[in-house]
Amino acid sequence: GVEGELYLLKDTKGRGFLVRLRPGGVFHHHKGTVPHEAIREAGPGGRVETHLGEVLSVHRPTLEEYVLHMRRSATPTYPKDASAMVTLLDLAPGMRVLEAGTGSGGLTLFLARAVGKEGLVESYEKRPHHLKQAVENVKGFWQVENVRFHAQGLEEAHLPPEGFHGVALDLMEPWKVLSKAVEALMPDRFLVAYLPNITQVLELIRAAEGLPIRLERVLEVGWREWEVRLPVAHPRFQQVGHTAFLVAFRKWKVS
Ligand code: SAM
Repeated sequence: GVEGELYLLKDTKGRGFLVRLRPGGVFHHHKGTVPHEAIREAGPGGRVETHLGEVLSVHRPTLEEYVLHMRRSATPTYPKDASAMVTLLDLAPGMRVLEAGTGSGGLTLFLARAVGKEGLVESYEKRPHHLKQAVENVKGFWQVENVRFHAQGLEEAHLPPEGFHGVALDLMEPWKVLSKAVEALMPDRFLVAYLPNITQVLELIRAAEGLPIRLERVLEVGWREWEVRLPVAHPRFQQVGHTAFLVAFRKWKVS
């Protein structure tokens, strides 16, 4: 549900835990428990202590933290990549975006925040149980009603011609929906696909031949975290490895 306030607790090792407060609730950490009431009293930016003396910091989750910790059906778009997609799509408040597949709703949240309450995200997901999780995840973080969910494959969608300022695709076989998605895109605007395998990238680029779009860029988002414990600082030994390629196309005016 979306009733109680949403918090993120962090332990001294930096591990995060999402907590939805409820009356009489208790948070369980392997180093002890904390009543939800104590979390509410500490508030965002505060600290609580478990009954075994472990200190936890209390936060409102950022979008990045939320996406990394929320329940998932499908693997969410990694936040570094989702934020890059928002940039490549050149999204701004008031725009309309087409998305497929919704998955767990991670990318949906980045899109919905970028287009704001005057904007709209129309999101298509063919697997009902994925969509159910996505709706729960999106509503659990974002109370603005600017997302329309469709329990449908993008193939079956009825879309307004040139009705969208952007198209975001995170699905296995985007070439199957590419011509349909391109019809729904406004001239001079972008379609961005998120693809784990380079073979998928090449297949998509092949499918784009003959469609009124031009390949703009193929890229990976590098995001190297550093471990800083003064006086020493070095790149973390464990990094997020490969996530996916981003492929951006721009639409020609069809005259
Ligand atoms: N971007 C999502 C997120 O951040 O949570 C994750 C998307 S997940 C990797 C891919 C999803 O696309 C799956 O849930 C799958 O069911 C859905 N899908 C695959 N083909 C589809 C299609 N043709 N139309 C709509 N959804 C599709």
